Amino acid sequence: MNIESKRLKEIDIVKLMINLYCCHHNDINEKELIDYATLRIKKCPMIKDKTFCSRCKIHCYEKNMQEQIKKVMRYSGPRMIFHHPILAIKHIMKG
Ligand code: SF4
Repeated sequence: MNIESKRLKEIDIVKLMINLYCCHHNDINEKELIDYATLRIKKCPMIKDKTFCSRCKIHCYEKNMQEQIKKVMRYSGPRMIFHHPILAIKHIMKG
């Protein structure tokens, strides 16, 4: 997979995870977090070798956004296997 395809796939996955979280919670601004996460991925200097942001040494998210995305990942990560199993398995294999 080339870098741009990987970048687009990462954006799709984070959107799905934020959508899933926001279907069951109303404590974050969904559009704001999707826009922010999309921008971070578009500018990500680690994209070539990136697995999970939680393993990144840079941590480019602002603190409040980092707290929000952590909540999303904690909630949606384990549930992706039920909602989007193929994507989830590919993502886990990659990590
Ligand atoms: S936290 Fe790291 S891997 Fe994630 S988008 Fe920022 S620079 Fe890229």
